[in-house]
Amino acid sequence: MKDCIFCKIANKEIPAKVIFEDDICMAYLDINPLHSGHTLIIPKNHFTDLDDINEETVAHIIMIAKKIKKLLEEKIGAKGIKLVQNNGTLQEVKHYHMHVIPDCKVKDIPLDEVYKLLTK
Ligand code: 5GP
Ligand code: ZN
Repeated sequence: MKDCIFCKIANKEIPAKVIFEDDICMAYLDINPLHSGHTLIIPKNHFTDLDDINEETVAHIIMIAKKIKKLLEEKIGAKGIKLVQNNGTLQEVKHYHMHVIPDCKVKDIPLDEVYKLLTK
């Protein structure tokens, strides 16, 4: 969708620190992480929110969230992981995305360093 920042990331028109992608979705580091390793998983096609997205794509994204959880545990030592998906007034970017947020016990690591740890 035109003027959607996450569509632009999916189409590689603007850069992101991508840690996983396949035909259906992409996972990249949040530009303003709540905790180190904070990742967003988006469908490559534009869906606005949980009402808009189809069940097949949601199921795929949850499956990828399982993989990202493991990655954050193994590579940066996360001991607790929260999944968050905002809708309506709570949603800033109107392209469906799942937040995968590690616990605050993961010490502050610069974004570039997190990216290296998660992709090596
Ligand atoms: P929401 O409130 O919509 O669930 O959260 C949107 C998230 O997207 C925020 O955590 C924000 O930091 C992140 N974000 C917004 N713009 C960009 C961007 O251009 N790149 C990346 N990597 N994250 C973004
Ligand atoms: Zn979009």
